[in-house]
Amino acid sequence: MTEAAPPLRIVILGAGFGGLEAARALAHAPVEVTLVDRHNHHLFQPLLYQVATAALSPGDIAWPVRSIFRRQRNLRVVMAEVTGLDLAARCVRAGELDLPYDALVVATGATHSYFGRDDWAPVAPGLKAIEDATDIRRRLLLAFERAEITADAEERRRLLTFVVVGGGPTGVELAGAMVELARHAMPREFRRIDPAQARVVLIEAGPRILPTFPEELGEVARRSLERMGVQVLTGTRVTDCTPTGVQCGEERIAASTIVWAAGVVASPVGGWLGTERDRAGRVRVGPDLAVPGHAEVFAVGDLAAVTDAKGRPVPGNAPAAKQMGRYVGRLLAARAVGQAPPPPFAYRHHGDLATIGRRSAVVSLDGMRLTGLIGWLFWGVAHVWYLIGFRSRVVVSFEWLWSYLTFQRGARLITGREPAGGNATPMPGERQAAALGTRVAERLPAAAPRELPAPRRVAAGG
Ligand SMILES: Cc1cc2nc3c(=O)[nH]c(=O)nc-3n(C[C@H](O)[C@H](O)[C@H](O)COP(=O)(O)OP(=O)(O)OC[C@H]3O[C@@H](n4cnc5c(N)ncnc54)[C@H](O)[C@@H]3O)c2cc1C
Repeated sequence: MTEAAPPLRIVILGAGFGGLEAARALAHAPVEVTLVDRHNHHLFQPLLYQVATAALSPGDIAWPVRSIFRRQRNLRVVMAEVTGLDLAARCVRAGELDLPYDALVVATGATHSYFGRDDWAPVAPGLKAIEDATDIRRRLLLAFERAEITADAEERRRLLTFVVVGGGPTGVELAGAMVELARHAMPREFRRIDPAQARVVLIEAGPRILPTFPEELGEVARRSLERMGVQVLTGTRVTDCTPTGVQCGEERIAASTIVWAAGVVASPVGGWLGTERDRAGRVRVGPDLAVPGHAEVFAVGDLAAVTDAKGRPVPGNAPAAKQMGRYVGRLLAARAVGQAPPPPFAYRHHGDLATIGRRSAVVSLDGMRLTGLIGWLFWGVAHVWYLIGFRSRVVVSFEWLWSYLTFQRGARLITGREPAGGNATPMPGERQAAALGTRVAERLPAAAPRELPAPRRVAAGG
């Protein structure tokens, strides 16, 4: 009697949009799936800016990966940071953990790029993870608190100036939500400042905002933002970000809060594949999304450089990542049962959406253009539809309805600590508390240094 072949071991790196869809497409295949992510949750990044501006709470837009896959018996979740790949031995390294595979799906996404100026990161955080959103929320809300107590008029002006760098959809959404927070969400709450006097500046190096949208929609967005009170500066390049503001050539904008929404670079895991990448670090893949020279390794989502049937680059967005993940999942499911693979990957572009603020959004959909209230309603329904689970859909819809009716923001909590190198002046007592902490620490006996295991070098891509 011949023994049945062991099931194909498939390791998926990243539980973002691409990784999740790949895993789901393998639900009924005779395979063993291991889904690895450094976080325990899947995050709906399109609504992250609403956490950063206190409209939603983190739990409204993120879900534990284990709970999403609790019913998928052929899948196990591993929460770990991927630290290396051994393509020759077909093994993923995640710290001390080795994860052997027969097929590998790399879906570790992208992160913000400072175009070689990573030293700007502490003063101009980008928006990618929950921690980034709550950090930006803290900076924003603290700026109002500090402005309320400072006696220095110039410092007050600086504290109430917020700069968003990058006029893509994330920058536009952030700037709109910030000005709404300042002008509508906290009336009558402060005694010495008027939050409505806050200045929000959106800076874009290119000639127009929303460059991936049709030109007329970019113009609609610009006019809407300006009506709301956002100062839009196009054709303006940021040359320096410091704790006290941004420099744009000769012009200096004194600001307390700077948010970076300007550039994107693929996750470093792509570099460990050792194959050709584009300027943004994305891995060039074949028509079946396999990495050249490795028919068993696939790259999907923001990490992959893919072109559509007309030779145009597939955009780095959630629908593209989902389509790629689903495609590779189906391909591997077919491979597991010896079926013919599906035809080459073909991307379907559904449209572009960006919200600007209350009753204002721009939507470009298969030749159809929606703006204003209709666009905003469409944007809202589309985003609620793609949230995971009934609870999130109800909670987010309720939060939106509530803020629409009352202008209030439900998640205005200042949490966490000021990171080193941030741009904030300390709150009263902070300096004394820090000094006291140092003095107490000086008096305490120093803790014995812990023996740490020597770091193991992993030959990336080896
Ligand atoms: C603020 C923001 C707003 C956006 N708005 C929109 C929008 O409105 N519409 C739209 O279509 N798209 C939007 N996008 C883009 C969209 O979110 C991405 O295109 C999409 O998330 C890409 O999916 P992905 O699976 O490739 O990567 P991701 O969804 O980023 O997932 C990557 C996963 O890999 C994990 N990971 C990374 N490195 C490691 C490692 N070394 N070890 C373990 N795990 C790792 C991460 O934790 C993450 O869970 C937005 C993105 C951002 C940041």
